[in-house]
Amino acid sequence: MRARGQAREQARGDRTRIRGMPPSTPAPAVSGSSSAQQHDGEGPVLDPAVAAALKKDDAGLVAAVVQQYDTLEVLMLGWMDEEALRRTLTSGRVTFYSRSRAEYWRKGDTSGHRQWVKGVALDCDGDALLVTVDQEGAACHTGTRTCFDGRALDAMTADRPDPEGS
Ligand SMILES: [Zn+2]
Repeated sequence: MRARGQAREQARGDRTRIRGMPPSTPAPAVSGSSSAQQHDGEGPVLDPAVAAALKKDDAGLVAAVVQQYDTLEVLMLGWMDEEALRRTLTSGRVTFYSRSRAEYWRKGDTSGHRQWVKGVALDCDGDALLVTVDQEGAACHTGTRTCFDGRALDAMTADRPDPEGS
């Protein structure tokens, strides 16, 4: 399968053509390591129009909800700064910013549970992203498919009122 071959190429760190990107935009080299590379004023930056639409928190981050593209499972929540979003938009792989480790983290580099980007949307007020992916294996670091599996809270459920009023 082509996708598997592409996966192996990217795992080796090769540059890979990103579908949908204009030919004038070179695919960025994606570091295989998770070492933080804060932007130093050189190299590619996030599209200024996209950056301007982001409503970041005090730490410069926006929440990224990650969803399996075909089953619509809500897989996990991560955080992205502008550079993590740029990498996600341009590499075909999801990259987060780890607040606890203060470094970029490309999902699956250590676990093998890679996330292949299918789409990215910004929400209505710019403070959250919806990233649709094809998730390999478990999205959660605890080994469950999603971060929400088996963690339901006791909630009172309710039904919406019958529009007939009967
Ligand atoms: Zn989790």
